Amino acid sequence: MLALKNYINGKWVESVCSETTDVLNPATAEVLAKVPFGPSTARDIDDAALAAHEAYLQWKDVPVLKRIQPLFKLKQLLEENREELARIITMECGKTLAESNGELQRSIENVEVATGAPMQLQSEFLENIANGIDEYMIRQAVGVTACIAPFNFPAMISFWFLPYAIACGNSMIIKPSEKVPLTMMKIFELIDQLDLPPGLINLVHGGKHSVDAILDHPKINTISFVGSTQVARYIYSRGTANGKRVQAQGGAKNPVVVLPDADIEMTSQIITDSVYGCAGQRCLAASVVITVDNNSKIKESLYESAKARAVGYGLHKGVDMGPVISKESKHRIETLIEKGVHEGGSVLLDGRKPNIKDYEQGNFITPTILEDIPVHGELIKTEIFGPVMSLLHMKTVEDALAFINAGTYGNMACVFTNSGSSARKFRNEAMAGNVGINIGIAAPMAQFPFSGWKESFFGDLHGQGKHAFEFFTQTKVVVERWPKEWSRKF
Ligand code: NAD
Repeated sequence: MLALKNYINGKWVESVCSETTDVLNPATAEVLAKVPFGPSTARDIDDAALAAHEAYLQWKDVPVLKRIQPLFKLKQLLEENREELARIITMECGKTLAESNGELQRSIENVEVATGAPMQLQSEFLENIANGIDEYMIRQAVGVTACIAPFNFPAMISFWFLPYAIACGNSMIIKPSEKVPLTMMKIFELIDQLDLPPGLINLVHGGKHSVDAILDHPKINTISFVGSTQVARYIYSRGTANGKRVQAQGGAKNPVVVLPDADIEMTSQIITDSVYGCAGQRCLAASVVITVDNNSKIKESLYESAKARAVGYGLHKGVDMGPVISKESKHRIETLIEKGVHEGGSVLLDGRKPNIKDYEQGNFITPTILEDIPVHGELIKTEIFGPVMSLLHMKTVEDALAFINAGTYGNMACVFTNSGSSARKFRNEAMAGNVGINIGIAAPMAQFPFSGWKESFFGDLHGQGKHAFEFFTQTKVVVERWPKEWSRKF
């Protein structure tokens, strides 16, 4: 099996690096591909950065209406190839076909929003700011941009950045996760069909070595990272120390609060979708469910709904939940469940011994519920990133808010209630970048920034929407004087 190629300067090229790692189907353990993975991938980054710099020098001066034309074509190609892309996502990442399709829909929507660049890049002008002096601000491209993506959304996450970077006049290097590089391979087959200068969008494979090369490369101006908090913090500190503009989205531990007046059936259905969708491997997965003023009916309903989820190979019809990404991940999640028990929690629903016929080699864990793990323990602070709900019971909404606001992460917090004033209080006081009211996954649409607070985000400007247009441009303020005495009489 040949190693996957990079796409640099408009051509498919072999990596300088001869070492590889396997890309595995998490449901079947089949080797799908080999991806370059080793120290010399750093040299691939150098080639890509030089090509991207040349492309940027041409592209920045192309009028914005012309720059967005390839995005219309890209949207069309993504739609035409949607079925195949969804299959690839499911095969390498494990999620169900419906989830893969949802991810592609979100990717396409970001392309659509980025075509608004001709309006979004307009700026400010103030005439006669002092006698005979005008002042205005223009937005210019920042240069070579890089995107470093995690495994859990092989398509969508690059689209939080790519279409905006291009519409704003920049070039880009994408480094997909080494665990799921095949979706980007297919997307680059589509990018290859666009009318773009060679080197404008590049694909380079690898892991830590290619990331470090991005962080240190003098020709790379911005970095958009999404992944775990530990790596996000590292990317932010090393990237900014090297003078780059960095946005780094990290991990999460998302609480969902159920007030006593919430509709039981609807709430438990939405919450189980949130906890177990994508096998819990979403940065916006609800992972801590807090019932307020304990209502045993919601507990029963959550249990029944979690138990009813059909687990299996995501390509098959009727499957609600696929496997987790790797054997290491499965082992880590099982160890964390054990840790919860050790800390004093009880296992209400145990998914550690799944029986998935014909897929014994897959990394399956079925829905699990851990009840009453201590709020001052370690597990309650740890991102499990698997199909595990931690179920807590508290007396008041104030207790729940105090617990949420003491947490280190701040990606999302949700509340389920029938009361407008309780919802309003929660929205105002919850310290999280994305808030859901009777919503289980408060994922911002492409028009809005994908927010995130505390240890879930390092930087100032988030991905998507207006933030993306700001991140991918730098402002220039011009102060201009044309003295009357110089004017010619015609
Ligand atoms: P990860 O941090 O392990 O990897 C992300 C990227 O960083 C990959 O491309 C990987 O090759 C690279 N990388 C890994 N270790 C590195 C290191 N030591 N030095 C430099 N680069 C390194 O994350 P993952 O496991 O792929 O993804 C899951 C994580 O991503 C979860 O924590 C999840 O919450 C988070 N996530 C966050 C968001 C968000 O919007 N906040 C969205 C999706 C995923």
